[in-house]
Amino acid sequence: MPEARRETTLAHDSEVDGSGSVVPPIHQTSLFTFDSYEEMLEAVRGERDHYIYSRGLNPTVRAFEKKVAQLEGAEDSRAFGSGMAAISAAVLSQVRAGDRVVCIRNVYPDAYKLFTQWLPRFGVKTEFVDGGDVDAVVAKLEGARVLYLENPSSLVFGLQDVAALAAAAKARGVTTILDNSWATPLYQRPLEHGVDLVVHSASKYLSGHSDVVAGIVLGPAATIAAITDRELTILGAKLSPSEAWLLLRGLRTLAVRLERHGRSARQVAEVLRRHPAVAAVHFPELPTHPHHALFTRDFSGSSGLLSFELADEAAVRPFVNGLELFRLGVSWGGHESLVYPAAIGHAARGPTSAIRDFGVPKRLIRLHVGLEHPDDLVEDLEKAFAAVKGGGVSI
Ligand SMILES: *Cc1c(COP(=O)(O)O)cnc(C)c1O
Repeated sequence: MPEARRETTLAHDSEVDGSGSVVPPIHQTSLFTFDSYEEMLEAVRGERDHYIYSRGLNPTVRAFEKKVAQLEGAEDSRAFGSGMAAISAAVLSQVRAGDRVVCIRNVYPDAYKLFTQWLPRFGVKTEFVDGGDVDAVVAKLEGARVLYLENPSSLVFGLQDVAALAAAAKARGVTTILDNSWATPLYQRPLEHGVDLVVHSASKYLSGHSDVVAGIVLGPAATIAAITDRELTILGAKLSPSEAWLLLRGLRTLAVRLERHGRSARQVAEVLRRHPAVAAVHFPELPTHPHHALFTRDFSGSSGLLSFELADEAAVRPFVNGLELFRLGVSWGGHESLVYPAAIGHAARGPTSAIRDFGVPKRLIRLHVGLEHPDDLVEDLEKAFAAVKGGGVSI
């Protein structure tokens, strides 16, 4: 579908029930009944299109899946109860004991836990490489089963040459999986660059209002069917119909929300870039970003998530406490502005932590730029910088 038409796809729901309603109903039902023994038999044999039980397919969930598949240019998709459920299902659908995964550094921290704390129990090991170094990644691919990408990566927003990596993986029989949560299918279409499976945390921009936790896997119909029969059915991490309905509502405004998130993030990034207390800004759209050329080649826009490093680590705490509009919290992609200091991640419990193990600087602060007026957000940041200075910390 041409770029200009995707907003139209977003604004319409095709799964209406003939009543004239512009919003589809919520099929809040666990099971679906049949008119006869024969109908039920045909349905369980897969010879008849009929819903059976909501741990599998559900019409409201199906409407969400179809809409995202259309946007992403995927043959099919399967929704899950969280982004992590979608990621785990996608990875587990591909690996078996003895396999090796190649994963970029600075991957989403709970995906890192899947690779480092859980899969090794089943004889699957993972090697982490710098996703910005094509040769380094390709050197690890021979004999691997999965190449796991996240473009851009978490917290530091590094980019990968997705087309080159996916081609190298394909040539060696390696399945490429890519987490596209930051850009959404509106701003990056990895399947067109040879990626096999795309995953999203739909808890972020696809829902857009910080009221849903959900995920989705997209790719070839046969792979999605296999994931439905095994990982969805057996592990059971399905999406609820009422949350699918909220996601459908969120999707209708995705294009206009993203436009505003991106524009405001640009304004914030420019202010941070010029501020003397800031040592670095991590936002791929800035011409100073080391992977800016890949950004202009592969992305058609920016969302509202970026990070920066304060020159002085001691300034992190007073700076964060000095913010009012940017609320302290994990996650992102909703209407509201949020701040997450990497130093908090360094302090987290557990034997491994992606933030610690990948050496994310403690002076790094992640911002989600929300839908508030950007001038208010800039004022909030300037007030926090002033509070740090007033408190005697040199910035
Ligand atoms: C939040 C997030 C996830 C996990 O999604 P949940 O819906 O929280 O399970 C995965 N990848 C990225 C990039 C994320 O930001």
